[in-house]
Amino acid sequence: MTLYDYKCDGCGVRFEQDHPMSAPPVRVCPECGAEKVRKILSTGGVQIAGSRPSPSAAPPPCASGGCAGGMCGLG
Ligand SMILES: [Zn+2]
Repeated sequence: MTLYDYKCDGCGVRFEQDHPMSAPPVRVCPECGAEKVRKILSTGGVQIAGSRPSPSAAPPPCASGGCAGGMCGLG
């Protein structure tokens, strides 16, 4: 079973439903009965781009205290 997040565009309710991937997605809202339910991205395991700093953003050599200001030509 896989847990899916759904949102109803009719009444705005958001709910979770777990069903096998082979099963058809939920179409009818359990709250208002409108067929305006759409599947939304689950919050589990999904990283929003830009939410974490890049691992390559290391400080330049001069900022690490390896040399005095201006002596290596980078500062
Ligand atoms: Zn609804």
